[in-house]
Amino acid sequence: MFIFHSLVLKIASRCNLNCSYCFMYNLGDDSFKKQPKFISEDTIVNVVEKTKNYIIKNQLKTFNFLFHGGEPLLLGKNKFREIVLKIKDLENEVKNLQISFNIQTNGVLLDEEWCQLLYENQVEIGISIDSTQASHDKYRVDHKGQGSYEAVKSAIQLVKRKTKRADVITVMDVEENPLFVYESLKKMNIDSVNFLIKDFTHNNFPFKKDKKYNQPYANFLIELFDIWFEDKEKFDIPIFVGYINVILGFANFDDLNSNELKSLIIETNGEIEPIDSLKACGQEFTKTNKNIKDNDLEAIFESSLGSLYFNESMQVCSQCKDCPIFEICLGGRLVHRFDKKNGFDNPSVYCEDMVKFICHIQNRLLDVFPDIDKTEIERLNYNDIIAYNHLNAKKKLDNENLKKYKETI
Ligand code: SF4
Ligand code: SF4
Repeated sequence: MFIFHSLVLKIASRCNLNCSYCFMYNLGDDSFKKQPKFISEDTIVNVVEKTKNYIIKNQLKTFNFLFHGGEPLLLGKNKFREIVLKIKDLENEVKNLQISFNIQTNGVLLDEEWCQLLYENQVEIGISIDSTQASHDKYRVDHKGQGSYEAVKSAIQLVKRKTKRADVITVMDVEENPLFVYESLKKMNIDSVNFLIKDFTHNNFPFKKDKKYNQPYANFLIELFDIWFEDKEKFDIPIFVGYINVILGFANFDDLNSNELKSLIIETNGEIEPIDSLKACGQEFTKTNKNIKDNDLEAIFESSLGSLYFNESMQVCSQCKDCPIFEICLGGRLVHRFDKKNGFDNPSVYCEDMVKFICHIQNRLLDVFPDIDKTEIERLNYNDIIAYNHLNAKKKLDNENLKKYKETI
């Protein structure tokens, strides 16, 4: 049985923005329309009760709640405060338990009062902003099509003043200039930026993957990585730090694959679901028919999607299983593997980008740290890995060839 330490609570199912790439509303699943707009008190009572049972059964000492939506601030301050206090009460009921809170907001409604409320309840704030004003206002628009950049930028400054930290997530726009993106974010005095790759599947990937496919995501990430790597006053980019740690052996497959990093979703009506980005795979795709009212949290493992999610790095296609950089890439995120023809039995739609990007980081680290133990880390060649993976995908290699080829990389 996998143990998780975190729940994502969808406290609002609607949003004041209408971002064009949003998997909640704009990628083919409109089941949000059947959801109550806000989580109810009864559902919160059930969440608290079932989480308490889960914590006690698994003797957990820490547990995290991430408030999410839609836009969680739409719930309003009073209701939000009540929810936090109800959950926080778990610390009085379970000995030595420490509860932590995060919130992911688009920032538009974040004012002084919200900031104070979150600060005094120790709710860590994550804000979504896209890399530059042009990019942000192209995708992150309100229901009238107006960009939200200025409002979000003010919210970030407010949070920074209040909490002395600003952590943001940014959906990558590969049409932007990486240097401009880096400088634009740095000017905001941000502490960390998590760069996200858009939730495309094999069915809606906007680039034609023929022989001329030139890996726009890898090109963007490589340029950004080099700028960041050279910068002596850099902000944190967790995706880069994560890859460096794995390549240098400070983190390994088990760390990356740890279910401590995974969360369950509780929808506003109490439905228990695995990761919400899978909404991009189709209508009602994430539905498990399990509700916190009638089920324990562990019920997620009875659903095939839940079980797949908690095993996502073990259940990969044959190409990924034998890929020379599998222990770094892990086959990509589930949503990126999906194809209507054969479900998740595919490499990531970003496979070639990941190969190119990982080769670059590993080779760059070897250049910068020539004393690295070469028996542990060797130079990678993009063309060799791609050729090997393509052959392997067609299952034309026998084991001898496979071994031989691996040795030449
Ligand atoms: S702010 Fe978030 S939830 Fe709202 S539309 Fe944009 S991506 Fe979706
Ligand atoms: S690089 Fe491609 S083949 Fe290798 S693990 Fe990642 S998605 Fe799979």
